[in-house]
Amino acid sequence: MPATPAWPPHSTPRMFIDELLAEGRELQVAGGQAHYLLHVMRLNEGAPVKLFDDRSGEYLATVVNTGKRDLLLRIEAKLRERETVPDLWLCQALVKKDRFDWIAEKACELGIARFQPVLTSRCVVDKVKEDRLRSQMVEAAEQCERTAIPAIAPLAKIDALLKDWPKERTLYFCDERGGNAFVPGPGPAAILVGPEGGFTAEENEAIRAHPAARAVSLGPRILRADTAAVAAMSVWMASQGDWSNVAP
Ligand code: SAH
Repeated sequence: MPATPAWPPHSTPRMFIDELLAEGRELQVAGGQAHYLLHVMRLNEGAPVKLFDDRSGEYLATVVNTGKRDLLLRIEAKLRERETVPDLWLCQALVKKDRFDWIAEKACELGIARFQPVLTSRCVVDKVKEDRLRSQMVEAAEQCERTAIPAIAPLAKIDALLKDWPKERTLYFCDERGGNAFVPGPGPAAILVGPEGGFTAEENEAIRAHPAARAVSLGPRILRADTAAVAAMSVWMASQGDWSNVAP
């Protein structure tokens, strides 16, 4: 007896909706998202769509009717609750746009709770486009079946970040000049990674002087900032995050 095919099929499109969703609700979709569903995925009435809102969870919806530039969805059932992610922040000094976007996307995939862009003396870039970062993260979340997206904090200068730092949160300072072995401890945490040119001596001293900071080494070789960010997040996730839990 052939197994009954799973429903919804694996190919069901999945989309982030930036408003609270609920069973039984109807939703008008327009703009780029409607274009994708209508003209890329060529959905017709009755087709399934998975939606998630980064608030309450993931839902199964169906297409009620389609127009040229918009379509109406009805939310039929809740599939999953919003996932919890470990309490880890990434504080990343600005690097060149493409690499910075890449770091934001990897941080989302690795399950951080909050992404904090940081401005330091040697940053060659001094602005960040939050909406671009967010769209990188949304796309990663849509493709990786995620139901949570990291919060993106406004750009902060390193001295202001240290001044207002939440004292209960350990700040693992990735020091390319060499810190202690990176053996994360329990509790709320953040990882700080510098820009292409690294931290200045003054910055290094000021960070090390902060009571919540722990200078850590990522080994004897200097890594590029994006490599360092992913390496440090991975070490933390394996040690204090949720990698030891059985896969969902
Ligand atoms: N000059 C190189 C690397 C800059 S270091 C470049 O052009 O990319 C970038 C940041 O990565 C550093 O500020 C530090 O936060 C982190 N980092 C790189 N290698 C590291 C190491 N071995 N240990 C700890 N942190 C490191």
